[in-house]
Amino acid sequence: MEFSQYDINALMYVTNRPQLVFTEGHGMWLTDHTGKRYLDYLQGWAVNCLGHSPQCMQDALAAQAKKLINPSPAFYNEPAVKLASLLTHNSCFDRVFFANSGAEANEGAIKLARKWGTKNPNENGERRHEIITFTHSFHGRTLATMSASGKAGWDTLYAPQVPGFPKAELNDIASVEKLINDKTVAVILEPVQGEAGVIPATREFMQQLRALTQKHKLLLIVDEVQTGMGRTGTLFAYQLSNVVPDIMTLGKGIGSGVPLAALLCREEVACFEAGDQGGTYNGNPLMAAVGIAVLEELLKPGFLQSVVDKGNYLSAQLEKLSAKHGLAGERGEGLLRALKLGSDIGTKIVETARDMSPVGLLLNSPRPDLLRFMPALNVTIEELDQMLSMLSDVLTKLEK
Ligand SMILES: *Cc1c(COP(=O)(O)O)cnc(C)c1O
Repeated sequence: MEFSQYDINALMYVTNRPQLVFTEGHGMWLTDHTGKRYLDYLQGWAVNCLGHSPQCMQDALAAQAKKLINPSPAFYNEPAVKLASLLTHNSCFDRVFFANSGAEANEGAIKLARKWGTKNPNENGERRHEIITFTHSFHGRTLATMSASGKAGWDTLYAPQVPGFPKAELNDIASVEKLINDKTVAVILEPVQGEAGVIPATREFMQQLRALTQKHKLLLIVDEVQTGMGRTGTLFAYQLSNVVPDIMTLGKGIGSGVPLAALLCREEVACFEAGDQGGTYNGNPLMAAVGIAVLEELLKPGFLQSVVDKGNYLSAQLEKLSAKHGLAGERGEGLLRALKLGSDIGTKIVETARDMSPVGLLLNSPRPDLLRFMPALNVTIEELDQMLSMLSDVLTKLEK
């Protein structure tokens, strides 16, 4: 089909998209409406941990669809219970609430922290509600999560904001300490700031933050919507720094392409009362069945180690590429990595790589001077090499 034959204007305009309609995806590869193939280093924006349409997801969806799709969140269902149990047994958390998107899970985390702050008031008996967040952070696109985010321009878009989210600087513990007052109830951060350009919180900072929050009786909330589910080489990124947070949110990888997210907390924080939290599709068995299939894959012996190994390989190769083309190095954790370009050529690289023939390469440039890599966690070394060689070709072409 020709691109012009699609009624694309039936979709509401929200962003600029290339004139491509994707029709198929398998593993690391996508196919567009003309049949052209692309090596995909976006994977639904760090979502598809097992690549496009993996067999285990197809099987889980088909089997569960035949059995039970939606009994209502007012009842227990087997997949939701099993997935919650798998998550609690493989993390420091005791209770799970399922949601449909990362933003919704974070909304839940904000509500849970505010509820806890009502039950654990300050010395004057007043409820605590302020949640310290970080500049450049990203927590989602609902009004509260946009207000919690430190993205430039979001303080005025859709103003007025939801109040109560003062911003500190990542990896600067003094900047956090300065914001603590008798209304503060929690600190929320991404262990690696993803949308900001893959900026890891240092191990030292995570530990300082845990000590500081403990000292002031504040909750430590990790937004692991992007970093969780094996992305950084441990099942969850908080494990890299040996801290025990109070609340964690998951999204993206847990559904690996279907709408599934989760809010987890430790028992002493689980203070929702009947009616405090809910949602029509939350914990529906169809999505939970996928979550189980994905998590069981990640927990297979050797899987997470392979993410570490491939992350190290990608890191070393990106450093080589950087040296070869005079770029500014790389950074990241596991298979969430960024190449620092040293100049604002990100968009040009993304477009040139995409338009290559006979096969294209899909890359992401979250900042003009940076490329972010978010391959499937089961990407092969050959597929990493193919991307590196295509990217090197693009850079050479742009140097001319
Ligand atoms: C993507 C993302 C979100 C938002 O998730 P949605 O599913 O798009 O609502 C929240 N936090 C982080 C760290 C993310 O990367």
